[in-house]
Amino acid sequence: MLLKLSARGLRPLGACSEEPFLVRVVGSDAGAPGPHDALLDRSTEGPLPRGHRAYLLHHRRDVAALRDAYVLGAEHRYVGVGDVLRIDPARGVLTAVYRAGAATNSLLVTERCDNFCVMCSQPPNDLDDHARVEELERAIPLIASDAREIGITGGEPALLGPRLIRLVERLATHLPTTSVHILSNGRRFADPTFARALAAVAHPDLMVGIPLYADVADVHDYVVQARGAFDETVRGIVALKRAGVAVELRFVVHRETIEGLVSFARFVARNLTFVDHVALMALEPVGFARAHLDRLWIDPVDYGDALTEAVRWLDTAGLTVSIYNHPLCVLPAGLHRFARKSISDWKNLYLDACDGCARREACGGFFASATVRHSRAITPFSDP
Ligand code: SF4
Repeated sequence: MLLKLSARGLRPLGACSEEPFLVRVVGSDAGAPGPHDALLDRSTEGPLPRGHRAYLLHHRRDVAALRDAYVLGAEHRYVGVGDVLRIDPARGVLTAVYRAGAATNSLLVTERCDNFCVMCSQPPNDLDDHARVEELERAIPLIASDAREIGITGGEPALLGPRLIRLVERLATHLPTTSVHILSNGRRFADPTFARALAAVAHPDLMVGIPLYADVADVHDYVVQARGAFDETVRGIVALKRAGVAVELRFVVHRETIEGLVSFARFVARNLTFVDHVALMALEPVGFARAHLDRLWIDPVDYGDALTEAVRWLDTAGLTVSIYNHPLCVLPAGLHRFARKSISDWKNLYLDACDGCARREACGGFFASATVRHSRAITPFSDP
């Protein structure tokens, strides 16, 4: 995920910049270098072409006359052509802002949040996000125009106010064919003016994903640890849809929400049929979810009946439904057609128990963090 794949150990060769800077990785066949191009070089000898902003080398070699030449450590071997990187020479840190080879990329735009969810995977931090957003604005034009999808996450992105609108405008300008998915708690969009401002960008492929954890205010407010949040979130959903912005509802299943799963689905099927997508998701055991795991964890194999009934309500109402983050073998067979491979590739794994499973290709597998807790019912399929 964006701004999270940092690793220490970038080794400078000779003179280098003092301030952090952004680059787009190019190969030696890229033609005349642009002002932000960093050459990725795997050779061991021979001259290197001049004029690149930086040089990322797989092997230590003589680069006496070149500024900003760095040897990549083993942890940087993922770096590929088309990636957008932040290089911090003073700290020897290289951070992936965008990875061309990844199925999904997200821009983490702020760590601030006005919710404090009991299972938050990215616990909030009250940090000034001004410099972070400015840097992301500079990074967007470096991303290849054929990027499929970019997420905007936090924290709560809507706390950026007009700066979020500006960021989406920038995405619309530089990457007009790239899908944009904003993950928001929806509360700020209860202000119809703000919802209309986002709609006014007229991004051709924009969706806001909004978690709603119950059909009852008390339960939702408890899960997000914010009184009045349910009311604002529902008003935000309505305001966005009224303004013409696509909305996805997200429901994370755990011990504090499972009891209300079916009534949530019934509520959505009766009152919110105008939303564009509903995602029913398993818990990712990181952040607060990991800290509270004993209180929150419920084995998916134990809520198969409730999940089936919830999906039936939503599907029958004509809603598009997806099940995220659930291994295929823990779901009742009737739900397999709703299961999606939803886990970002950089944190996706399969267990030793999956060896030889005939449906591995169709299965989304596990979060890397699932090594701390996973279903007792993992059973490889013998038939494809
Ligand atoms: S055993 Fe097969 S279906 Fe189950 S989690 Fe592993 S790959 Fe997925």
